Amino acid sequence: MLLHITTMHAWNEAKQTGWLSTESIAAEGFIHCSYDTQVLTPANERYSGRDDLHLLVIDPNLVTAKIVVEDSYGSGNEFPHIYGPLNTDAVRTIVPFPRGKSGSFENVPDIYSTTPPPAQPDDKDWTWVLDRPCPDCGADVGALSLVEIAHFNRKSAARWAKLMQEPEDWVRTRPEPQVWSPLEYACHVRDVYRLFGERLDLILDQDNPTFANWNPNTTATQQRYDLADPATVAVEVVAAAEELAAEFELVTPDQLQRKGLRSDGAAFTLQTFARYELHDPEHHLWDVTGEQSLAGA
Ligand SMILES: [Zn+2]
Repeated sequence: MLLHITTMHAWNEAKQTGWLSTESIAAEGFIHCSYDTQVLTPANERYSGRDDLHLLVIDPNLVTAKIVVEDSYGSGNEFPHIYGPLNTDAVRTIVPFPRGKSGSFENVPDIYSTTPPPAQPDDKDWTWVLDRPCPDCGADVGALSLVEIAHFNRKSAARWAKLMQEPEDWVRTRPEPQVWSPLEYACHVRDVYRLFGERLDLILDQDNPTFANWNPNTTATQQRYDLADPATVAVEVVAAAEELAAEFELVTPDQLQRKGLRSDGAAFTLQTFARYELHDPEHHLWDVTGEQSLAGA
């Protein structure tokens, strides 16, 4: 793997176009990279005192530009250089690159274990949460009105946004190799809000629609939840929850018994659909924090 020292800002800009460019391309013709055994040297020489650095972990086999390993400055060390803009799909992951206790860069982050495999698929059927409180997260959704559900969704999303402001080491770290990081969970919750918004539209627009299947794990891998920017996700999760909550508030009593069918045949009324939805962000808050926020609500 090649490492490139960058900032989340530069990475976010690169993702918009699919290409990372650096000033060094114009000045020297290439993008500076290092191997993991080397990266502390340029970090301390060129980025002394910086607290906003991240490392891009780049798969050299996926880089479209030419890579030359060379000793450009007669330092006695050969570094890998990418001659041209870097295609962002060659980036396997991005990890925080903090300074050590001395104020210098002392440790190379573990770049290998942070390239995540899919999380353990959650195959459980959660429809029972409509009938009894969840023994884990404590959510008791079975009697909530849509106005209450809208309210609690906004509260959940606000908590997710707040969690995204925790130290990035925690936000990005999987507690177990097969368990999503808080960031990955937050992306999932954002996408659940969006998905249920789309399904709500179907229920309102069509008679007894069947929802397309959705695989959260595939989505997480394809969308690279692990590479998301926590600050951006914080904004997105609140916006997605707000959109869904506002729609729930507009549902009229005569619409509550409209139906939707999951692809496995499970039938929801709009009422049970909304209660079922609320359990997801609540349960994942418990997954991440261990706190029960909706117990006895
Ligand atoms: Zn639960």
